[in-house]
Amino acid sequence: MLETTASPPSQNAERTNPLRAGIESDRIADPCSIVFFGASGDLFKRMLLPAIWTLRTRGILPAGFALVGFARTKFSDDEFREYCKSQLDEFAPEGMKPQGELWEKFAPCLSYITADFKQLGHFQQLRKRLDENDKAFGTASNRLFYLATPPSVFPGIIDMLRRANLDPRSNERGWTRIVIEKPFGIDLESSRALQKTVERVFGEHDVYRIDHYLGKEPVQDIMALRFANTIFEPIWNRNYVQSVQITSAEKIGIEDRGSYYENAGALRDMIQNHVLNLLALVAMEPPASSEADAIRNEKFKVFSAIAPPRHDDVMAMSARGQYGPGIVDGEKVPGYRQEQGVAPQSNTETFAALRIGIDNWRWAGVPFYLRSGKRLAKKISEIVVTFKPIPHRLYGESTDAIEPNMLVIKIEPDEGIALRWEAKVPGPKSHIRSVFMDFNYGTGFGFHSPPAYERLLADAMRGDQTLFTRWDAVELAWEIIAPVLDVWQNTKDFSFPNYAAGSQGPETGFRLLHDWRRL
Ligand code: NDP
Repeated sequence: MLETTASPPSQNAERTNPLRAGIESDRIADPCSIVFFGASGDLFKRMLLPAIWTLRTRGILPAGFALVGFARTKFSDDEFREYCKSQLDEFAPEGMKPQGELWEKFAPCLSYITADFKQLGHFQQLRKRLDENDKAFGTASNRLFYLATPPSVFPGIIDMLRRANLDPRSNERGWTRIVIEKPFGIDLESSRALQKTVERVFGEHDVYRIDHYLGKEPVQDIMALRFANTIFEPIWNRNYVQSVQITSAEKIGIEDRGSYYENAGALRDMIQNHVLNLLALVAMEPPASSEADAIRNEKFKVFSAIAPPRHDDVMAMSARGQYGPGIVDGEKVPGYRQEQGVAPQSNTETFAALRIGIDNWRWAGVPFYLRSGKRLAKKISEIVVTFKPIPHRLYGESTDAIEPNMLVIKIEPDEGIALRWEAKVPGPKSHIRSVFMDFNYGTGFGFHSPPAYERLLADAMRGDQTLFTRWDAVELAWEIIAPVLDVWQNTKDFSFPNYAAGSQGPETGFRLLHDWRRL
């Protein structure tokens, strides 16, 4: 009989589909045990567990792998496995539900410790479990601790890891790393206090502060757009750029996270981390290499060039809002103050916008407008670079508006890049109209980018810190927004609620910038 060496159909498709050229399988992660503190919570079931399972199905998890859940809810190991299966049935991507031999082989590497986070004994039990995992699953004494609990519990867990000899210094045979979910503190002071706790136990190269926005493929492509092409860099500066808008808008409200959101607000929840990180990628200088620290040094330099506003200037460079009742997708929805866990007179902002200046040679005088909000007209994250208007009008009928060129980096839900330029409308007259050159990842590569948590978890297991934030940049980001937080907290906004759910946001946002791109 003839022996065949044909590849599986999916691999053949990748070879013959020219759009998929250059898309490679990821490098397999290091053998390790991963411990999820907060494994009974929302983030674990909706994001983290499906990401781990997808990494397993895509062959990126190493053969030596074990997962330990650690939380207060009571589960035996078997109950936890059942729980994980049921959550994967609901949240794993289509075509990747847990079943068959792959699941049967994976389930035994899941285990659980019902724990009181204040009991040293439970952390000692964890150490014993990790030693057992090394023998049973070949996890090579490598340990990844993931803090998926409320931030108030982070310091206690880190301290307990040290007391139970689960810190990097006590692990001579392998590596020990920690992934810390956002928010990293709730203001400048608390973030510094958290960092002090972290530093007592972990070196900076062991710490992976997660901002899942950085794991999104279009966000990573900002650097490729800028530094793998020659045409943008010469015009990427104050001589050609009029302004930059960065938007992260959501259609949903606060859902069942009222008590969390009351103490957060849009500025802390989105601008301090996601939106400022996008700004850094747009504004940074070319790094000397693609090493994690070369890139993170440049991001740090961008934040160093942003002067925190003076208290007196806050009202002029910022806008805040809070949604009232409105209509979303044809349905009536309640206002923020009517949501569960929210005070009836709450002063928490669900919309925040800032105008930021970067005081350096490249960007002096170019305003960066940042906005984020809940219950807006549309879910969209994008960066809009608007170029300067033409210096002299030559074309177009007198009634034609000649719009400036605009580069739109689309992050979600669409993923791609679009360039707006002016073209002559076909016909005898010389009408000019804006048109778009539109690149879309899905059609361009025949490939939808994997969820951010997949990429970030795999990077943490591989020891690649490029997409994680370094403490010096986190501290500066808090310094930049600290005066705004201060002023907003100490002055009640009597106009709240000042925008209807499902709208374009508050009027105050348009006073800051009248031509925000329409949501
Ligand atoms: P949940 O409240 O759903 O879950 C928190 C987990 O922590 C549960 O397992 C809970 O255990 C445990 N926990 C809560 N309080 C304590 C406590 N006092 N002592 C010990 N354990 C405790 O939160 P999320 O999963 O939504 O969020 C977890 C982290 O991830 C937070 O820092 C959040 O800001 C961040 N995050 C969440 C996102 C999301 O989409 N959910 C998105 C981005 C970040 P048990 O219930 O068993 O008591």
